[in-house]
Amino acid sequence: MTIAIIAHNGKKPEMVAFVKDHANLFQEKQITLIATGTTGSHLERAGLEVERMESGPMGGDAQIASRMVEGNVDMVIFFRDPLGKHPHEVDVNMLMRLCDVYNIPLATNPAAAQLFIETIK
Ligand code: PGA
Repeated sequence: MTIAIIAHNGKKPEMVAFVKDHANLFQEKQITLIATGTTGSHLERAGLEVERMESGPMGGDAQIASRMVEGNVDMVIFFRDPLGKHPHEVDVNMLMRLCDVYNIPLATNPAAAQLFIETIK
């Protein structure tokens, strides 16, 4: 199983804490994590193993979307910052649209992500 992890800047600390909290489960279930570039480097700095794409504004969301289209992503956890402005909003919308096209579960906040995690357990 592969989970894509993305967090807007204002949500990165929350995302690192979330992934750390579930690191044992991810390891136990042999779940692969892929992430946009900056999110991924934050996770790596916290000692977590993750495959990093480009940073979001440089096409990282598009790379993750491409993996989704190829059938290689099972779940997306994307902590969005609803109060920020993002230069790559169009890519973010594209990624979310493709989640719907391919029926890939998408959690956009910690409460939803926690529910997803419960189903993995
Ligand atoms: P980032 O990208 O992890 O490289 O900051 C996140 C995003 O797409 O907003």
